[in-house]
Formats: sequence, C-alpha cells, structure tokens
Amino acid sequence: MHTGFYLRSLLFVFIASQFQASLCITAQPEPRWWKGNLHTHSLWSDGDDYPEMIMDWYKSRGYHFAVLSDHNVIQIGERWSGVASNAGKADAYEKYVAKWGADWVDTRVQEGKLQVRLKPLSEYRPLFDETGRFLIVQSEEVTDRYLTAPIHINVTHPQQTLKPQGGDSVLEVMQNNIDAILAQREATGQPMMPHLNHPNFGWAVTAEEFMQLKGEQFFEVYNGHPSVRNEGDETHASLERFWDIVLTWRLGVLDLPVMYGIATDDAHNYHDEAIGKSNPGRGWVVVRSRYLTPEHLIRAMEVGDFYASSGVVINEISHDVKGIELSIEQTSDEHYTTYFIGTRKDFDPAHEPYRAGNGDPVRVTHRYSDSIGTVLAEVDGISPSYTYQGDEIYVRAKVVSSKSMINPYKEGEVECAWIQPIVLKQH
Ligand SMILES: [Zn+2]
Ligand SMILES: [Zn+2]
Repeated sequence: MHTGFYLRSLLFVFIASQFQASLCITAQPEPRWWKGNLHTHSLWSDGDDYPEMIMDWYKSRGYHFAVLSDHNVIQIGERWSGVASNAGKADAYEKYVAKWGADWVDTRVQEGKLQVRLKPLSEYRPLFDETGRFLIVQSEEVTDRYLTAPIHINVTHPQQTLKPQGGDSVLEVMQNNIDAILAQREATGQPMMPHLNHPNFGWAVTAEEFMQLKGEQFFEVYNGHPSVRNEGDETHASLERFWDIVLTWRLGVLDLPVMYGIATDDAHNYHDEAIGKSNPGRGWVVVRSRYLTPEHLIRAMEVGDFYASSGVVINEISHDVKGIELSIEQTSDEHYTTYFIGTRKDFDPAHEPYRAGNGDPVRVTHRYSDSIGTVLAEVDGISPSYTYQGDEIYVRAKVVSSKSMINPYKEGEVECAWIQPIVLKQH
C-alpha cells in the first residue's frame, strides 16, 4: 500500500474515532416502543385495589408505563379508606398486607372501624419507577356530565387536580374541560394531554358533537370496561364508525386537526378476572419515543407516533409519500387481516338524523353514506401494505388477529391493533 495513502487513511480513522467519541457523549438512543395504559382506577375512587397492587400488576406484566386515573382526584395528600366499606373489602386488605408487609401498610381505627391510609403517588412511586424500564404518570379522570350524559375526560400528567367545569350542552361540557386542561398546561408549562373517554358510555357523545371540539387530539376507540359499548348498537354508531365520521368532517369539511384513537383498560376490578368484570390488561397504547418520560411520551403521541392494541403487536409502522407498510409480530399460528380504511375526496356528504317512531330526531350520531370510512383494501399476512391512490383524505389501518383475547370483556373478542390515521389531503 502507498505510504501517503496509508497515513491519510490512518488520519481519517483517527479523526472519525474522535468524532464518534464526541458523538457518544451527546448521541441519543434510538426511538423504541413503550407499552402503557392510560386509564385505570384504584381505591382512590371506585377501583377495588390499592395503588401499589395495581402498579405491581402492570409492571410485572411487562408494561413500561401506567397511570391511576381516578375520578376527580389526583393522588396527593392524605386519604383514609375503610377496610370494610371500600370496594376491595377485607380480601383486598389481606392481600395488600401479605404483599407489602405490616410495616409498609399504614392503619388506624376510627369509631371502631379499621382504616388504611391510601398512599399518595409520591410515596409509592419509588417502589416502581426505574429509568428506561417503568414509569408511573400522574393522571385524573375529570368526571363531568350534561343532564344524563356522563362526560369523562382523562388528563395525563396534570400538575394540579382539575375540577369538572360543567356547561350547557354536551359539546360545551367537553370544550370547557378541554380548555381547563389546556389552561393548566399553559400556566404550568407542564405537558399534559386530555383524551375523551368511552364516548358511547351512557350514549353520551355523538360524532357531530365530538367533531367540533378544539384542542383535543385523542379519544378511546377501545375501552376494556364491559359497560361502555364500543360496538354501538342498531341505533348508535360503533366507535370505529364514529372515528371515520369525525376524521372525515374534521379533515375534509371543518378544517380541524386529525383525531387519534387510543385503547385503554379502565380497570376497576382486580380480584376476579372474568367476562363482565372491568379487569386490567385489555387495551393499551404502544408509543415510539427515545426516552421513557411523560414529556417524550406525550410529544410522540401528539404527532401520532403510537398505535393502540388489544393484543396485536406491531414491530414497525412505516409510511412515506407512496403508502403505508406494517410489520406484525407473529406469536403463534394465528393469522392476521389488515383493513386499510379511509375516505376519498369525492365522498357523499349527505347525512340524516336518526328518527324515533314518531318522526322526531333522536340525539345519536347521524346516518352517513358508505363513502365515509370505506375499506380501501383488505390484506392478509404479517407484512401488509397499502399504496395511496391519491384521492384519499386520510388512511388508517385496523389489524384483526384470529386469536381470541385471553380475558375479553365479552364473548368472542379477538385481538386487534389500531394504526393512527395518516392525513393525505385537507379540504
Ligand atoms: Zn369514565
Ligand atoms: Zn374510568
């Protein structure tokens, strides 16, 4: 080898190694997937177990983050719970003492009744938080209503308790609560994200109401509680249909931002796993970010860098100007069907209210044409892809596995994943 070339090569290797060394100091880890649940209850409201027991459930099953989103409370300050009168009763108490020891469990007797002090998050967080492995995020389910319609909005990572704001219509109650959350975010500088819970619970929210909301980017397309009616019924739209109507109108008509779908547990029952119980482990999100911190998770979710799941694992989601491609993890001999769903620019915008027998319109999501939320393609296998035709407003994907859920909320549920919509064309 020519000596000059050799020396130049050596110099290049030296400089490159120095450059790499300096990069090592500042290099960021590659983005990766983090699995978490954004909606669950404890004895701080109407769940039937102690916070430490629930966090142990999630962490020991491989989750990377979890919240306890109790009704109208964040877990700060002193709170005592009657062993005989709380939702967990003596059974939960005995398991709690057996797991954590009598020294950890704080009790007192008031008027002859045994009470347990519920630990605030600041006290039990050190038992679980582990950098790059597990993170508890502060949360609250802001629990409001308009007349008979329960309107529940989760806030992930609040700094202070948010009080339900009320209002004179379903839309106003939602908007007032979203505005209060965003005002706290603005005032504190702390990233926090609202999401609308279970729109079909109590048939609370119609697509026409939800599509108008400002400052909201997320709703639960799947909630594992057995009473929340994800599938709708003959009169009420399913949440899949609800999502497509909302996306089409926001992006194609109202000039509002995209809406992302999340899956959650909304667990209340931790002692018996069965159909009809609201158990943990049914719905979650998987978020792609470099770091496991509330700030990074929220930032990733706000740009749609996540998917929702009730069992299906997605290894890779890639999209470019031409189309979308997924890589699904094969776990055993199950098979997968992926539905690419969207609305084309020339959709039929006609819609009609649903009318009762006497002809009066009923406050439910309107009837829309089949051109909204069309199945653009149905693809079998673990590497489905879709090439844009150029006339779609948005494209999202739903992956359906042939595998039954381990603990479904109703008979016949199979594992699914919901891939976030890609916006192709605003009106
Ligand atoms: Zn709720
Ligand atoms: Zn809830």
